[in-house]
Amino acid sequence: MEEELKGMVEDLQVLKGSLATLEKRVQNVTSLAKTTPTRRSKVKDMSSEVIDSNPYSRLMALQRMGIVENYEQIRDFSVAIVGVGGVGSVAAEMLTRCGIGRLLLYDYDTVELANMNRLFFRPEQVGMTKTDAAVHTLSEINPDVVLESYTMNITTVKGFETFTESLQNKKFSTSKHGTGVDLVLSCVDNYEARMAVNQACNELGQTWMESGVSEDAVSGHIQLLVPGETACFACAPPLVVASGVDERTLKREGVCAASLPTTMGVVAGLLVQNTLKYLLGFGQVSPYLGYNSLKDFFPTMEMKPNPQCSNSACLNRQKEYILAKPARDASAKAKMEAEASSQTEGPLHLDNEWNISVVDDSEIEGSTSNKSDALPEGLVRELPISDNYENKMIPVETNAVTDDLDYLRKQLDALNAD
Ligand SMILES: [Zn+2]
Repeated sequence: MEEELKGMVEDLQVLKGSLATLEKRVQNVTSLAKTTPTRRSKVKDMSSEVIDSNPYSRLMALQRMGIVENYEQIRDFSVAIVGVGGVGSVAAEMLTRCGIGRLLLYDYDTVELANMNRLFFRPEQVGMTKTDAAVHTLSEINPDVVLESYTMNITTVKGFETFTESLQNKKFSTSKHGTGVDLVLSCVDNYEARMAVNQACNELGQTWMESGVSEDAVSGHIQLLVPGETACFACAPPLVVASGVDERTLKREGVCAASLPTTMGVVAGLLVQNTLKYLLGFGQVSPYLGYNSLKDFFPTMEMKPNPQCSNSACLNRQKEYILAKPARDASAKAKMEAEASSQTEGPLHLDNEWNISVVDDSEIEGSTSNKSDALPEGLVRELPISDNYENKMIPVETNAVTDDLDYLRKQLDALNAD
């Protein structure tokens, strides 16, 4: 009898517990059904306090872990994202979740059901402009980020003007050097728009990063472009990751490009990772990083500017860069000396518990960067380089392979379009 009573009390306690859980679930579901989404209030300072309600605790932990010196600095930075598609929208979401200070979003397109194979946009946003839909979602995720929506085409005369003007707006950070933004991210899907970003950034001396995903959806790349210091987009035919598919079959008018949320997500991740490294000053920023998803291969290389570049603003930036060399060298030397004097003698870790050895790869890097036409494995030029072009022209013409000639002419026109 006593045994039976004991069992019943235990059963009752279990029931009580599950009733409380059930009650909470009903409460959550009801409130979810009623929403109007709940926005959190703005946060004045980024706190490193480890509590569930702090949206920045995991990011501020990067400081405690010794990765980033001052994470909260991210709130001072402005990033412009051109093209809010499969890569740009995901990049925007990542930067928003990281607590970036200000985001400027440029796109002329609207959300369509055909975009639903990618991340970020939702079916109920169909018909909205991509920039408005993005601002709506992003402001809910993180109300601390200042968001600006520019629904326009930067390749039109008016659009280009608005684009360059908006990049120069310094109201967010009046003491900033150069333009009003710290970095421009190009996430567009066509050559003309890339050339427009290239033109604006060369004119303004604005550092930018280019990104791209192949039309067969299985490869992509990111590239850092510093006007005058690295190759601009017009300096040499753009590099793409070799996929083994004939480019001419892909680039034909009216052919629907393939896209995968995976490749686009990887490229957006690589782009924003390098953005964070560039802005917050940790790790190494990749000058060019390719991604071949079929082989999980990541080729990388450096590209020097072309002294015969067809873009005159690029040539001006190159001259300025060369003129500033003595001052740059002197400050680099002073920095190295200061670092050397502050370093203690001897190895950093006396007991090498894990038998880790550091390989010096500076020689390998040097050998690839000197020869501009020797490409590392897995990379090809999207178009023929200009010197080779003229050599190839003659046999093509005598053989009267008109299709190929027309194709080459179109590519050359496109190259000279700026
Ligand atoms: Zn150039």
